[in-house]
Order: sequence, then C-alpha cells, then structure tokens
Amino acid sequence: MAIISDDEGLEKRAKRNPIVKPETIEYDNTFENSIRPKDFDSYIGQTALKETLKIILEAAKRRGKPLDHMLFYGPPGLGKTTIAGVIASQMGVEIRITSAPSLERPRDIIGILMSLKGGEILFIDEIHRLNKVAEEILYPAMEDFTLDMTTGKSQTAKTLRVPLPKFTLIGATTKAGELSSPLRDRFGMIHRLEFYTVEELAKVVERTAKILEIDITKDGAEAIAKRSRGTPRIANRLVKRVSDFAIVKYDGKIDGRVADESLDILKIDEFGLDNTDRALLSLIIDKYDGGPVGIETIAAALSEDVRTIEDVCEPYLLQAGLLQRTPRGRKVSPEGFRHLGRKMPSEQTRLFSFDD
Ligand code: ADP
Repeated sequence: MAIISDDEGLEKRAKRNPIVKPETIEYDNTFENSIRPKDFDSYIGQTALKETLKIILEAAKRRGKPLDHMLFYGPPGLGKTTIAGVIASQMGVEIRITSAPSLERPRDIIGILMSLKGGEILFIDEIHRLNKVAEEILYPAMEDFTLDMTTGKSQTAKTLRVPLPKFTLIGATTKAGELSSPLRDRFGMIHRLEFYTVEELAKVVERTAKILEIDITKDGAEAIAKRSRGTPRIANRLVKRVSDFAIVKYDGKIDGRVADESLDILKIDEFGLDNTDRALLSLIIDKYDGGPVGIETIAAALSEDVRTIEDVCEPYLLQAGLLQRTPRGRKVSPEGFRHLGRKMPSEQTRLFSFDD
C-alpha cells in the first residue's frame, strides 16, 4: 500500500509514514503512524466490523470489482483512519487520504478524483464538513463513476460527462447525523465504531509498548487501559506519557503502581477524565444546578470550541453515564455528581430541610 498525498510536505511525510492525515498533522503524528496497525490481526477489537469487512473484501476480490463505498462514524481516535488503511493494504491498493475542510474549491475535489486509478481508495475525513458544491460533484462520481462538468455560461452552457476510474470512497465522520441524506444514501456500508473495552485497550497498550520497546507488566497495561476513555489514541498517548514518568521517576518499568501514580500526577482520574472534562461537569453543577444548560453556554464559559466539546469531551461523558443530553440542554447525571463527590440538588434540599 502506498499513499498519494496532496502537497509536497505531505508527500515527504507520507514516505516516512504509511498513513498521513493532512488535517491532523501535529508533532507526534510520526509516533501515531509508527504504531498504526496495518492488518486485521493487529487491529484490536471492533470484531463485528472486522468479520463483515473480511467477507466484503473477499467477495470484491473474487468478483474482481472495487469495494462498495463505506462510511465509518464515531468519536475521534477509535480507528476510522486505521481501518481504512487496513482495508487498502488487504486489497493491495493505494489509499489517498484527505479531509473535507481541505476540499474547499471545486477544483480540489475534481483534481483528486481525476488523479485516482482504478480500485484505489479515497478516504475523506470529517466528511460531514463537505460543502454543497463538493457534495454535488461527488454524487455522480460515487454512483456512476463520472464527473459532470459544466462549460460556458447560461444558454450556451454545456455539460460534459467525464468518466472516472472505479474507485472506493471511504468517509469518516464524528457526526453521521450531519451528513445530507443523498450523500449518506450513496454509501453501501455504514458502520459505527464502538468504544473499546478495558481488555481490548490493554491489548492496544501492550502492542504499543512492544513496538516502542517499553517494559510494561499486565497490571501496568490494565491501569493505563482503564483510564483511556475507551479510545486507542488516548491509550497510546498515555503509554508514552507514563513511560516518560517511569524512566525519570522510577526504574523505567511500568507496573500497576507506576501507571496509577503517573496518571494521578497527570490529573487523569480513574474514569479517564481530565481537567477539561471535570471542569465541564463542575461548571454545570456549580453554575446551573446540574443543568440542563445549552452547549453554547457551556463552551463559552469554558472558553472552548463547541465542536471540541461535542466531538471530544461529550461522547465519552455520555457513554460513561456521567452526562445526559436532554431537549433543553446537557445535564449532569447522579453518577456524574457522585464522581465529582458532589451532592445532587434534591439531596442538598433534603439535607437542608432535615437539618432545619
Ligand atoms: P480516527 O480516524 O477514528 O480518529 P485513528 O484511526 O487515527 O482514529 O486511530 C488513532 C490511533 O489509535 C492510531 O494511531 C492507531 O495506532 C490506534 N488505533 C486505532 N484503532 C486501533 C485498533 N483497533 N487497534 C489498535 N490500535 C488502534
């Protein structure tokens, strides 16, 4: 599998890394790519997805046809880009990775579509952010493998149909609900990635530790897994952070105690919540009696972007049952109050009238 990239910088990076994600390149992207699974065996968890994919891939190979277009959705860091890479390598085809915000002008998407070769995979991250024009270019491309281009103006305008190679589009999104239905309907397979169990994340941690030559015990891996919010990307980051602590403060080896102590210092609690998550829950409790309160109000009070709150903080808080989404806004659940060691407003009232 090889990567074709969008610019020179990406091309260089793509040579070092098997998968490059243009919108999320940050200093440790090389790290992320170095530990990214390349086949089904090293892609941990998501069993139902893997089983389905193996059949789809085998059928496509036997028919000698390209794969159906696929849409993967779920919170960031659960392995959407990674599974797209696994699919490409299993099919022995190239994958071209881009993201919707970088397809601003019609020529961006047209350029990419025209440069694809038969069977190749086009991966579009954050596909819910595609603009209307780009979407409309994609419809015939996905359905009939053609580009409909208009030349000339008003009455003299002509539509040209340009044939495209048969490619597979893999879309990824954190918000499947924001995709327009014509676009959603053009995917042959739509799959939601699930949060990982502690056992699965412990395997992710052990695998990463092995690649990075970090000495870790089973207890150490489990301690990190428990605080990783069901997310492999977070598990991988924490292995690295804890390993730094283990080298500097201990003898280099990560066991349960070293992991717990390091994560306490990093202020990641036993639910995996960090300062931002706790600030969000505390804000709703302290300023809004536990809610409900609107997401914009929360974001403004925390000086955070609404999208960050919705995409990064909330999914796990909701899944862990600490936060609830209601038609009137977000509410902290009784479990959320307990987790922060606070009393529910009703308990406070009861206590107050009792004491009175
Ligand atoms: P997404 O595209 O959903 O935001 P990525 O595919 O970029 O997430 O995954 C983030 C990191 O997590 C990757 O670098 C990869 O190493 C790790 N990862 C994701 N899914 C798995 C998995 N199933 N098994 C092992 N590691 C995984």
